[in-house]
Amino acid sequence: MKILIIEDEKGITEFLQQGLEEEAYETSSARDGITGLEKALNNHFDLILLDWMLPGLNGIDVCRAYRKQNPSTPIIFLTAKDTLADTIAGLQSGANDFIKKPFHFEELLERIKVQLRPDTIEKETITLGDIIINCTNHQVHRMTKPVHLTQKEFDLLEYLVRNKGRVCTRKELIENVWNIHFDYNTSVIDVFMNSLRKKLGLPKHEDLIRTVRGIGFIATES
Ligand code: CA
Repeated sequence: MKILIIEDEKGITEFLQQGLEEEAYETSSARDGITGLEKALNNHFDLILLDWMLPGLNGIDVCRAYRKQNPSTPIIFLTAKDTLADTIAGLQSGANDFIKKPFHFEELLERIKVQLRPDTIEKETITLGDIIINCTNHQVHRMTKPVHLTQKEFDLLEYLVRNKGRVCTRKELIENVWNIHFDYNTSVIDVFMNSLRKKLGLPKHEDLIRTVRGIGFIATES
């Protein structure tokens, strides 16, 4: 599990890194908002610890900008602010939790564990390799970059990923994605599949979505 710490106070960062590494988390850090946001957007992290008062870009702005690109990675604010208005502002910016400075490391650790528990992670988010599919707001991201799909492309991707590891036949896809239940030329699937692969940046023989000749398609991570 990788955790990004965006915090300008060196002492706090070192204290967090030491504690988290003892708990077998990998850590990375940034000392200002701009570097932190760049790092968060260009790498995969399982969780982000974000200070509120930061040079460059404050925590709220970092959180808002990050959420536009990544709706799912949990963010915990580390903050000396604790008024109701501050809490609301933080949650509205997309944070998942708050911890007030100064804090006990054990408390922070418990909050991190809650956020990383599988049943806390949004159930309506499904993944295929580095592709993250949010089935609630229909946003798709690959390597944290947004991918803009049409409704049918989205439905096709969602169906394949929900059936990950199993070959989906052309007939099955036509019935379940297009809701067509009579004899139909299934080559329409190829048009959507080509466009979907192109938008996701998957070459034709990419492992994530494979063509099973004469049968259908399979979404697979192995
Ligand atoms: Ca600070």
